[in-house]
Amino acid sequence: MFEPVLLKNIDAPDGHLLSTYEAGGGYQALAKVLREHTPDEVVDLVKQSNLRGRGGAGFPTGMKWGFVPKRADKPKYLCCNADEGEPGTFKDRIIMESAPHQLVEGLAVSAYAIGAETAYVYVRGEYVKAIRRLEQAIAEAREKGYLGAGVLGSDFNFTVHIHCGAGAYICGEETAMLESLEGKRAQPRLKPPFPAVAGLYASPTVINNVETLACVPHIVMRGAHWFRAIGPDKSPGPKLYCISGQVRKPGLYELPMGIPLRELVENHAGGPLPGRSIKAVIPGGVSAPLIPEGGLEVGMDFDSLAAAGSMLGSAGVIVIDDSTCMVKVATRIIEFFHHESCGKCTPCREGLNWAVKVLRRIEAGDGAPGDLEQLEKLCKGIFGNTFCALGDGAAMGLRAALAHFRNEFVAHIDERRCPFH
Ligand code: SF4
Repeated sequence: MFEPVLLKNIDAPDGHLLSTYEAGGGYQALAKVLREHTPDEVVDLVKQSNLRGRGGAGFPTGMKWGFVPKRADKPKYLCCNADEGEPGTFKDRIIMESAPHQLVEGLAVSAYAIGAETAYVYVRGEYVKAIRRLEQAIAEAREKGYLGAGVLGSDFNFTVHIHCGAGAYICGEETAMLESLEGKRAQPRLKPPFPAVAGLYASPTVINNVETLACVPHIVMRGAHWFRAIGPDKSPGPKLYCISGQVRKPGLYELPMGIPLRELVENHAGGPLPGRSIKAVIPGGVSAPLIPEGGLEVGMDFDSLAAAGSMLGSAGVIVIDDSTCMVKVATRIIEFFHHESCGKCTPCREGLNWAVKVLRRIEAGDGAPGDLEQLEKLCKGIFGNTFCALGDGAAMGLRAALAHFRNEFVAHIDERRCPFH
């Protein structure tokens, strides 16, 4: 029987308060690692758990921590990516609003493991309530000695700063986020060097997502075996799924990693709206290629979705029913990526601009023979040729819409109108 841990206090009106968090065993993981474990032992524990980053890339967290040089002549930093700009994604916001101490404790344990004394939480600027709750949680934790100089009487010093973003999707890309934290224009950096070696202020830096960090105290208290026993061995653990779109019960669900997408959408989220049927599902935010209805048996984990030609991404599950025009869906998604392109590299900046123009004319009934081949050519020019993953995500999404729903694109061109309106 699966027992939720990340959303345990989600419905409690005072779940964001320190007293509630402590009453449920909060900050015992921090006390335990300071009392019983060396930093290397905490890194090993997280490696054994096989925790993979919940921000989108799915990189093994313990391995990422292990890349930080043991001896460095500069301070090490922990950065929390709380920018959460991926459409259809709202899991980190709920953690920060409803259980912010879970993140604060995760930050403290993780910082101890990598040898950092300072953490920055880069929060999406629109998340005003989350920012206020996080500020309150940090103040409460400092007051009780969970943060500050000599945490809980140890020689571990730890400070957390909040940095509010200003609405740019690209700040979710880790190196663009570092640029923004340094006060520069947010554009991705060329890698290598990787942040673990030269990140914030050219110092060793670990960047983890909110949900990833929130898992860490539970791994400390319950053990790596507990975590690994949930879901597939290569992608284990509890997982937050954000479900939105044309479905009866949209919301945030905590379930095992690897749950079949169909079970998630039809059983937990209640299935399609009355009288409608599901046409496709985007499984991981709009960067993830859509999956047509026939493919919903796929497991919601990094490897199963990659094998199915999509990705888990941010687990922002968007359900699309049979009343929706897929040309419209594709156009809105590419418009979004075009708007959010930072402009640094030509294939993304110019290719998406061109793709938007072609898609808009197809949607308006002004498409011409050869437009679909033109879109495919643009996808080929963008995919694999851009500086960061934004361009790849856009090209993969458009390719999937063209591959699975080509008949709808052709109908728009042949009939010179949208068949859905
Ligand atoms: Fe910027 Fe797009 Fe290039 Fe990424 S792919 S660096 S967002 S222009």
